[in-house]
Amino acid sequence: MKIKSFILAAFLLAGNSLFAQFTQKPLPYAYNALEPNIDALTMEIHYSRHHAGYVKNLNDAVKGTPAEKQSIEEVLKSLDEKNTAVRNNGGGHYNHELFWSVLTPEKNTAPSAELAQAINAKFKSLDGLKAKLNEAGAKRFGSGWAWLIVDANGDLQVTSTPNQDNPLMPFVSKKGTPVLGIDVWEHAYYLKYQNKRADYLANIWNVINWKEVSRRYAEAKK
Ligand code: MN
Repeated sequence: MKIKSFILAAFLLAGNSLFAQFTQKPLPYAYNALEPNIDALTMEIHYSRHHAGYVKNLNDAVKGTPAEKQSIEEVLKSLDEKNTAVRNNGGGHYNHELFWSVLTPEKNTAPSAELAQAINAKFKSLDGLKAKLNEAGAKRFGSGWAWLIVDANGDLQVTSTPNQDNPLMPFVSKKGTPVLGIDVWEHAYYLKYQNKRADYLANIWNVINWKEVSRRYAEAKK
């Protein structure tokens, strides 16, 4: 009985950290797996400090609020624009979870037939889409993201958001379900590329996980 009480007390005390609502998924590849396109140190700092920081701050911000019991998608879709702590850290968590998933060391992944058809219809070719996304990323002044989304009509669109905003948030100019997101914060590329964001954007296509982008596209079209 004493042991049971002790376990219960330990369980309750540890609860805050053990049962934090939002947690990072393990990175699905090693920090150095995307070399030379993204270097190991950038990946390590990006995942273990930047992304981890957003998660910690998000959990602190939602403590004792209804958001604690919601999925991150629900939190972002119903977000109040003025709630900067959840906006920045909830966006930061969602955006990075998506980002890690759409990168891979696997060579030669390709869009599904359905996604390829939609890309060709909208952007003429895969190269046409890459050019649009690179332009969106290059034009984003300061920090932010370039996105490929499925909008409310089921159409593909390229868009960009500042800071850690994303297309799920109700107040952004172009809303939709993100299927591919490219981080253009300096922390995503500066150690290797310094100020040459365009070189980072050119090389990131070598490590895009088209299988995962296709899976997200099919999910968004349901
Ligand atoms: Mn980042």
